[in-house]
Amino acid sequence: MQKVPFITKSKVEEIVKEYPTPFHIYDEKGIRENAKAVKEAFSWNPGFREYFAVKATPNPYLMQILAEYGCGADCSSMTELMLSKAIGLSGEQIMFSSNDTPAEEYTYANEMGAIINLDDITHIDFCEEACGGKLPETMSCRYNPGGVFRMSNGIMDNPGDSKYGMTPEQMVQAYKILMDKGVKHFGIHAFLASNTVTNEYYPVLAGQLFELAVKLKEETGADIRFINLSGGVGIPYRPEEEPNDIYVIGKGVKEAYEKILTLAGMGDVAIYTEMGRFMMGPYGGLVTKAIHEKHIHKEYVGVDACAVNLMRPAMYGAYHHITVLGKEDASCDHQYDVAGSLCENNDKFAIDRMLPEIEMGDYLFIHDTGAHGFSMGYNYNGKLRSAEILLKEDGSAELIRRAETPKDYFATFDGLNVYGKLDI
Ligand SMILES: *Cc1c(COP(=O)(O)O)cnc(C)c1O
Repeated sequence: MQKVPFITKSKVEEIVKEYPTPFHIYDEKGIRENAKAVKEAFSWNPGFREYFAVKATPNPYLMQILAEYGCGADCSSMTELMLSKAIGLSGEQIMFSSNDTPAEEYTYANEMGAIINLDDITHIDFCEEACGGKLPETMSCRYNPGGVFRMSNGIMDNPGDSKYGMTPEQMVQAYKILMDKGVKHFGIHAFLASNTVTNEYYPVLAGQLFELAVKLKEETGADIRFINLSGGVGIPYRPEEEPNDIYVIGKGVKEAYEKILTLAGMGDVAIYTEMGRFMMGPYGGLVTKAIHEKHIHKEYVGVDACAVNLMRPAMYGAYHHITVLGKEDASCDHQYDVAGSLCENNDKFAIDRMLPEIEMGDYLFIHDTGAHGFSMGYNYNGKLRSAEILLKEDGSAELIRRAETPKDYFATFDGLNVYGKLDI
């Protein structure tokens, strides 16, 4: 499918008068339509809730839009919990799915009434102590079946190599220990494959978790309240990929639910999801300006964004489609490496990419940065984080996070009086 930016060159020219490049921009209309579709696709399950994975896009404005569609928040750290609290989420609207968890984070999550999802059996005692000697009434455990995760088109991922979750034997044991300690209601969580661009992932995962739920109930008598399919639903970063259809996915989960849970007399179990990428990925883009061209052993275009603004290409060689704004229909007859300014040779948004001829001052739209884009940012080379802008449904642009300034960068050198010395 041809990838079309949700913003035009003329709109960008208008925005840069106020907010210079680079910036991440988000498409309110797209976010809303997708959130509504997710809600509808699982409406057959009365207890359904999407807990948006905050780490994907930790912006309170965007989280608030999702909250209008009933979304809660999935957090893995203290500040993510705090952010969720700040936008008005509380209690069971917050899932705490962390690993290698510090004690104070369990304490804080417990005080908020968040649902705690334990990553390991050894965390039971650790968490109990952090919760002042009394565990919450509802708890969840993260499952890792080991081996490989298989679907009809082959092996998708390798849970046996992943650090998360408990073995099948530990799950049974953990539920028994938790019941002994007074926990009354239970959830099951698993995240077994990432960025799955297929409608099959959730239904296959759900089938495995539903069977585990029936087994856990039989062996321990635990009251299983929810099954959390977690994240992993992917998006088509490449034009040739077929997007997932959330309605087909919802229907696939429903079929597995009826076949396994309803049949076992467990037709009241709620389905939870913790999608990040699918909720936000396609509805964000990084807008950056071409500021240099370089003709050496290869042809380079240097842009004003760099890997600190979007780490995925440098980190995992991830593909992000690029559109040169205003040249949407021009033929892609030039081959470039599109590079940022870090003193690291992996700071390239694209390698050997065929694009229209790029002139200095052209705006490039780097697609699908709405999840795991801005949020993976860092300050290497003293680079500052960019602004985040929301393209609203009425076509106006709202600043939803300002760009960092040098003052932010120096803010942690208490006592050095950097501000005074630099007159900032
Ligand atoms: C990262 C993460 C998610 C979200 O994953 P996506 O691939 O963005 O959907 C959900 N749950 C947990 C526990 C995670 O670590």
